[in-house]
Amino acid sequence: MAEHESQEFGKADFVLLDSVSLEEFMANLKLRFEKGRIYTYIGEVVVSVNPYRAMNIYGRDTIEQYKGRELYERPPHLFAIADAAYKAMKRRNKDTCIVISGESGAGKTEASKYIMQYIAAITNPGQRAEVERVKNMLLKSNCVLEAFGNAKTNRNDNSSRFGKYMDINFDFKGDPIGGHINNYLLEKSRVIFQQEGERSFHSFYQMVKGGSESLLRSLHVSKDPTAYSYIKVGGQVKSSINDGADFKAVADAMKVIGFTPDEIQTVYKVLATILHLGNLTFGVDGDTTLIENSKVVAVIGVLLATKEENVGKALLYRTVATGRDVIDKQHTTQEASYGRDALAKAMYERMFCWIVGRINDVIEVKNYDAKVHGKNTVIGVLDIYGFEIFQNNSFEQFCINYCNEKLQQLFIQLVLRQEQEEYQREGIPWKHIDYFNNQIIVDLVELQHKGIFSVLDEACMTVGKVTDEVFLQGLNSKLAKHAHYTSRKLSPTDKSLEFDRDFRIRHYAGDVVYSVVGFIDKNKDTLFQDFKRLLYNRLESTHTCYPLSSHPSLSHGPTAAFYDALITTCYPLSSRPPPSLSHGPTVAFYDALITNFSSPLFSPAPLFLPLFSSSPLFLSLRSSNPVLKMMWPEGKLSITEVTKRPLTAATLFKNSMIALVENLACKEPYYVRCIKPNDVKSPLLFEYERCRHQVEYLGLLENVRVRRAGFANRQEYPRFLQRYKMISEFTWPNHDLPSDKEAVKRLVQGCGFEHDVAYGKTKVFVRTPRTLFCLEEQRDEM
Ligand code: ATP
Ligand code: MG
Repeated sequence: MAEHESQEFGKADFVLLDSVSLEEFMANLKLRFEKGRIYTYIGEVVVSVNPYRAMNIYGRDTIEQYKGRELYERPPHLFAIADAAYKAMKRRNKDTCIVISGESGAGKTEASKYIMQYIAAITNPGQRAEVERVKNMLLKSNCVLEAFGNAKTNRNDNSSRFGKYMDINFDFKGDPIGGHINNYLLEKSRVIFQQEGERSFHSFYQMVKGGSESLLRSLHVSKDPTAYSYIKVGGQVKSSINDGADFKAVADAMKVIGFTPDEIQTVYKVLATILHLGNLTFGVDGDTTLIENSKVVAVIGVLLATKEENVGKALLYRTVATGRDVIDKQHTTQEASYGRDALAKAMYERMFCWIVGRINDVIEVKNYDAKVHGKNTVIGVLDIYGFEIFQNNSFEQFCINYCNEKLQQLFIQLVLRQEQEEYQREGIPWKHIDYFNNQIIVDLVELQHKGIFSVLDEACMTVGKVTDEVFLQGLNSKLAKHAHYTSRKLSPTDKSLEFDRDFRIRHYAGDVVYSVVGFIDKNKDTLFQDFKRLLYNRLESTHTCYPLSSHPSLSHGPTAAFYDALITTCYPLSSRPPPSLSHGPTVAFYDALITNFSSPLFSPAPLFLPLFSSSPLFLSLRSSNPVLKMMWPEGKLSITEVTKRPLTAATLFKNSMIALVENLACKEPYYVRCIKPNDVKSPLLFEYERCRHQVEYLGLLENVRVRRAGFANRQEYPRFLQRYKMISEFTWPNHDLPSDKEAVKRLVQGCGFEHDVAYGKTKVFVRTPRTLFCLEEQRDEM
């Protein structure tokens, strides 16, 4: 008997369970996990349980086994789903998508990488160079995105702190020719704060641990991560991860993807700036707020290619336009600290989005003419945060759980719609299925004027001092009657609502209590305009310097060593003529030159004296970092030009979710549902309660029911015959009936299953799994 039908390993498809109950489902899931069978189907959905150990099931030989096969022909595997999505895309010209969901640590990102690896392995048999390039870029992008977007948390040592949707584009031959990444809601609060036992984003530790002496010297960063308050809050600067080695791998990946040395340098400068910002402290002297460690400000000035005064001013003052006047208003120490943290978070977030944008620049499909080459089709892979219920749930959990409501809604619509459409297409009557439709919860959150996001935005728009409590009152007055909303005010005796600043949502996956503390702040997400202008370098002053002479050591253009040396040991500019380069200095060179020369931190270096000569040419240069500027386009506006209120975080998130769902809705979906078996990363432990809870909130049982209420299995007539023709004398070895459909009918009659089967135009539909199982058994007995 084929492995996937063997009782010993449990049922390979939950649809084949004798009866659909939570107990049976769990028993099967547990048995399979214990037998090392981490994948199980629900029809075409893969349920995956994180094995927490290396599995020998992703190699070349396994890939070969799945290539071009049908789902039920091989044991359940991610590769089978990837192949199904690929086949649908290639054979039927369909855009498809693979939605991977599950809680933190359940294995989503690993699954998405295996899927990408599979697709890369089975495509481009002709070894076309451009296709190989694209594949390489797509795979390399993971490494970069994980460095900047992942962090060690208490749940997962490599937890994705952003949502990711990646489109892979294919040409008419079915080879990847490009892609596009969308990122969602980076958890930027991690830049300034981590829970006990957690870390900030990997990138910081990688740079501190892996950066070369000269890089770190140029950034004024020490090799000790505990020297930086922002990244030591969680007390876990070490992890199981090798930061030093990863630093090099990430730098290499960035180079391969096509980040220029300037761009990579800017990334390091941003990281260093953030580290330094974290060490800034504010104090008061009489009425004046001041920065207690001004040397750090000077360093930040150097890194941002701007003057120390500009940095200090942006941190301590806020420029406000009152009528036609523009005045500088001093921050309190509290406001200054808030501003500093907001700046650090925003710089990181912008950089992250910019990195995604740069990757998109290089992987984007170019020169594809659909008229010549046919339709360019897409497989999308979504790796996004699962449902979160923590001890303390805040704005972030609210957004994430809303995202899961949207995806659940999509799942309902697509799975049911798909079934319905197929039955119609095949001319088979459709039977209604009962399920919980969570649209009501989606509406509760996103409805215009009435939804929670609207109430929040309204509160944020109110002039004057708005508090989180005002927001909660707004919610209570608008939503008191909603079946899925409760607050302490509305239900004073409810024990689960501990504080009067809580509200509870009855999500499809269970009840979650949210604390409103911080909602207003996080939604407004204020970053003082002054910082935007600072980073865009509006505040720079003009520097003057001379071009470089043709020193022999530089006759072939400046070397990396030269830059390093220059950056680390420079002159104050003042009256001296600076070095020159024979092939013309680059932007990066000027950047390095100006920022270092204008810095008070550097002392003269005799080493460089011979490089200087008295060239008669005189150049006027402006200090700026063009890469940094690109991250801050709105800094272009002066204070009097800024009129529009930026969109709130909630609105931005809502819009991005609506767009995501619209995008997925027009694709043929495949699902991977990941389950985390325990909290201790053990390969042996199947914590029953933990798993049961996930099975419930992923709606897996409902999924099985929906699947069984329709037809458990459907196959095209020729396929069906090919698989079972040996069972019947009428079809073995070949039939002489007028069509394959007739032959299938004859075969089914012979087995006595007519009552359980419907005949569509191109496919035979088998209602109960038992029938399929019997067919398989008979086949095996032949
Ligand atoms: P998060 O939401 O926090 O990003 P996630 O669902 O993406 O979590 P992963 O990072 O994919 O979780 O997996 C967590 C860890 O579990 C991995 O680092 C790896 O150690 C282990 N793991 C996951 N899937 C597999 C697998 N198929 N084989 C072996 N180990 C795995
Ligand atoms: Mg992940």
